[in-house]
Amino acid sequence: MIERITQLREKISSAGLDGLIISNPDNRRYISGFTGSAGYLLITLDETILATDFRYIEQSTQQAPNFEIYRISGAVNWISDLLNRVSISKLGFEAADLSVNLHASMLDEIVKVKPQHPDFIPTTDLIEPLRMVKDSEEIALVSKAVDLADDAFLEVSKKIQIGHSELSIAWEIEKTMKEMGADSISFDTIVASGPNGAKPHHRPSERKIQSGEPIVIDMGAKFQGYCSDMTRTICIGEPEPKLKEIYDIVLGAQLTAIATVNSEMTSGDADKISRDIINEAGYGDLFGHSLGHGIGLEVHENPRVGPGGNDNLVNGTIFTIEPGIYITGWGGVRIEDTVIMENGSVRTLNKSHKLQNPQ
Ligand code: ZN
Ligand code: ZN
Repeated sequence: MIERITQLREKISSAGLDGLIISNPDNRRYISGFTGSAGYLLITLDETILATDFRYIEQSTQQAPNFEIYRISGAVNWISDLLNRVSISKLGFEAADLSVNLHASMLDEIVKVKPQHPDFIPTTDLIEPLRMVKDSEEIALVSKAVDLADDAFLEVSKKIQIGHSELSIAWEIEKTMKEMGADSISFDTIVASGPNGAKPHHRPSERKIQSGEPIVIDMGAKFQGYCSDMTRTICIGEPEPKLKEIYDIVLGAQLTAIATVNSEMTSGDADKISRDIINEAGYGDLFGHSLGHGIGLEVHENPRVGPGGNDNLVNGTIFTIEPGIYITGWGGVRIEDTVIMENGSVRTLNKSHKLQNPQ
């Protein structure tokens, strides 16, 4: 945590600020270690203060030993009280997180700071780029979240039968991940059978599985706050010919990206590898989302692995590779692994098989 605070202070200085209020819960956790649901961090060039309410005083004291704990009572008067104790002229806030209402009430408090109140300056992407590159502890936690999803998929996928509903399969997956030790799910599980698979973010329904059709299963576990994310497209019975054709294209696009993406590339270069393959097969218009996304405390974070993405995929970056083809009225195929950039190339964290028919 001390290393993270040091890196953040460099970012604060180079942004021309001398303090930052952190309101985003994942950033708050990343910088302080505090996992509670309410609170703010005030980071200056020499102070680290965690402001939270009565419910979290004990927890924050234990989890955030590098921070002075300040007890909030009342609405936002904490901010003027704290700012009267420190000397700041340019205070940043997280523009992507603070609501318009909260910003207005914070500003009302800040103008009360004497003798001269600091400027309140919007910032973006101060902490997010730090979060993109994982340390060894984070890599271990994501790997555990990946293993939980893999193990649950192995357990549940072999029991899926014709006539089971999407909802019942999604529930089995979520229940199994929790029984195996997940804190929770990292997002609502997607089970999209037959034509429903044409919607990349379909919500599971009462629709019953039929023989030979594609079934897209997108799932992830959370472990000690860290997420995993994987998709498999499976089929019960003999896959119909169109499924075989589409599946091979998507699998080829995915495996080629895994084999080729390296740490010299930008995230846009990585996207292009799979996209070119799907374009050449004639399905480019039907791959309408990014190749992938970073993953960590949030299921979607930096890097943005899509067309034109300019994040550098440096060693320690964890992200997904998930090409897909979606055909209205027929269905979809998506195959997704969570991967890590290591020694210049990609290592796949997921171990789940990629057979069309897992039975
Ligand atoms: Zn996914
Ligand atoms: Zn994903």
